[in-house]
Formats: sequence, C-alpha cells, structure tokens
Amino acid sequence: MRAVQYRTIGGEPEVVDVPTPEPGPGQVRLRVTAAGLCHSDAFVMGLSAEQFTYGLPLTLGHEGAGVVDALGDGATGVEVGEPVAVYGPWGCGVCHACAQGAENYCPRAAELGIQPPGLGGPGALAEYLIVDDVRHLVPLGDLDPVATVSLTDAGLTPYHAVVSSLGALPAGSTAVVIGAGGLGHVGIQILRAITGATVIALDISEEKLKLAREVGAHRALLSDVSAVAEIRKLTGGVGAQVVFDFVGAPPTLEIARKSVALNGVIQIVGIGGGLLSTGFFSTPMGASVRVPYWGTRSELMEVLDLARAGAIHVEVERYGLDQAPEAYRKLHDGEVRGRAVVVPYS
Ligand code: NAD
Ligand code: ZN
Ligand code: ZN
Repeated sequence: MRAVQYRTIGGEPEVVDVPTPEPGPGQVRLRVTAAGLCHSDAFVMGLSAEQFTYGLPLTLGHEGAGVVDALGDGATGVEVGEPVAVYGPWGCGVCHACAQGAENYCPRAAELGIQPPGLGGPGALAEYLIVDDVRHLVPLGDLDPVATVSLTDAGLTPYHAVVSSLGALPAGSTAVVIGAGGLGHVGIQILRAITGATVIALDISEEKLKLAREVGAHRALLSDVSAVAEIRKLTGGVGAQVVFDFVGAPPTLEIARKSVALNGVIQIVGIGGGLLSTGFFSTPMGASVRVPYWGTRSELMEVLDLARAGAIHVEVERYGLDQAPEAYRKLHDGEVRGRAVVVPYS
C-alpha cells in the first residue's frame, strides 16, 4: 500500500510503498477514507535528532477515518463495511482515567509503549490503518468522512478545552481565541454553539481573520501588541474570562497573560515553545492556567453529534495521497485555510 512517511530527520515527508498491514488479535484494519494534517505533525518534523523520540520511518496522520476492512481474531462490535472515525489518544483502557474515557490522560500509556497512530504508531496517511481496539472507533453514520475526519483532533481538542472551562463562559462573558487555523476555526464555532460567550479571535493573517468572522467570531483582531488594549476596551476593562491560545508562542502567551480577567482561565493548546510565568503580580488573582491535551472518547462522540446537528463544520482543503508533501509545505507556511485533508482513494 502507499503511505506518507517521515523517514529522515529534517527531511520532507515521502510517499512510499509499504506492506499492507494485517490486523492482529483484537485489532481492526480500516481502509482509510480521509486523514487530516495537523500542525503537530509539522512540530514533530521540526524536532532535532536528540528531541525526536519516535522511531523512523514514521507513517504520519493522527486524524483518521475509514471503513472497517478486516477484523483480527476476537475483534467484535463493528461490522466490515462500517464507516468510522478513529479516537487517537490511545491509553491502556483499564486505569481510572481510561475508565472515564479520558485515555488522553492515561498515566500508563508511555510505560506500556502505547502510542497514538501517526504520533509514534503507524498513522492514517496511508491506504490502510490498523486500530488496536474497537473502543478507539466511533461510528460516523451518514457523516462525510472528508468533511469530518478533522473533528477527531481539530474539533475534539478545542471541544475538550472549552468544556473544561464551560462554567466561566456564561452569557455576557468573553472568550479570546488566539490562532484561527485548523483548531481555532473549529474552536470559534464550538464556543458559539455551546457557550454564551462573545468571541474575539486573533491571528496574524488577514485571511484567517476573515475566516474567523465567517465561522462566527464577533470580533477579529490582528495579533500584535495593540490587541491587549483592544480586548480590555471591548470588555469594559475586565478582560477575557477565558483565553484559548492555539499558538502557544512567547508573544501569544504574553497577550493571554495580559488579557485574561481576574479569576479567569488561560488554556494553552498550541505547542509553540512558549512558557508562561504564573503567580502573584504575573497572572491576575484567581486565574488558572491549563495545558489541555486532545480529548476524551465521549467528547469525540459529542463533537460528531454537534456536526450532525449542523452546529459546527470544518473548512477543508482536499488533497490526494501523492499531494501530501505539498499540503504539509502549505501548512508549514501558514497557507492552509481550515484543515488540509488527504483522501487516499480519490
Ligand atoms: P494551524 O497551522 O492550522 O493554525 C495556526 C494558526 O495560528 C494560523 O492561522 C496562524 O496564522 C496563526 N498564528 C501563528 N502565529 C500567530 C500569532 N503570533 N498570533 C496569532 N495567531 C498566530 O495549526 P493547528 O493545526 O490548528 O494547531 C495549532 C497548535 O495546536 C499547534 O501548535 C499544534 O501543535 C497544537 N495542537 C495541540 C493539541 C493539544 O492536544 N494540545 C492538539 C492539536 C494541535
Ligand atoms: Zn493534532
Ligand atoms: Zn489508562
């Protein structure tokens, strides 16, 4: 089968031929219908040899959807031919966190060598994908896999962040979204769908600001030093009850720190290399800072239900498998509008 692999440190991803994998006991093989490209892939491919802890070659793609193609011995609960989305942050399945569906916070995954597809394990940017357990599949039903595959990360991750600060976002509150890219443009829609907050979006690109307005941001501002004063002005001096930073770089964390309200929340979602100093006289009194990671299994079901209800969607740029390296270049250069999605059989 064809697969998109990261093969050498610092190199470009390559489209290569690899053996089609067979599902082992309890595993499920999917014929991939769609796979999304995330900025975290660009982050991983930017790591030096010392920082890179995964094995090479690495088949990329941690947003996956497919049709059940073959069942390993003992795998039950899905039918061959069934369309499914993949829950990516795989955990052990038996610990307290996993029992709550929060496999994204499984404390045993690392020691057991369990790695998400595309982030250590073979990923979804291929014609076939092996999923380790039926519980990591969610039925797609009538949802279009190309339009919805990115909800498994670009939808689930902001949803998890928003839900964890839902109590801070009643009517009359303000949420700031920094970075209206893949995650951010879905995050804006989630905020509009499930909270009463006024949404202020920030980006460095005028086109992304236009996209932010189109998907529901009340205000869209250039992400520079003037943004803080503007957020204060728009909130009557109070600041934002929650700041979602989908960039996480030093300048955006500084905007987050200066624009969050007393008793507010900063959610650092982006892996942009920044560190935020918290404490008295740095962050406002009562403020908390979180670094949320991906989301829970039941939250993925809820995100798909929001899409089913027409409340959220993903702006998709569609590519063939052979065009994946080109799509990654565009992502790296900030030129993707919404999410780039690879369709292996097109
Ligand atoms: P993306 O490239 O699609 O979007 C990033 C957006 O940020 C772009 O619109 C870009 O113009 C904007 N941007 C860049 N610099 C900015 C600045 N200084 N101020 C404001 N906006 C700026 O990326 P994505 O796939 O949406 O991922 C966003 C981040 O989230 C990445 O760092 C990624 O690694 C991380 N991520 C984290 C998790 C998690 O579980 N915490 C999950 C997925 C992705
Ligand atoms: Zn991701
Ligand atoms: Zn676990």
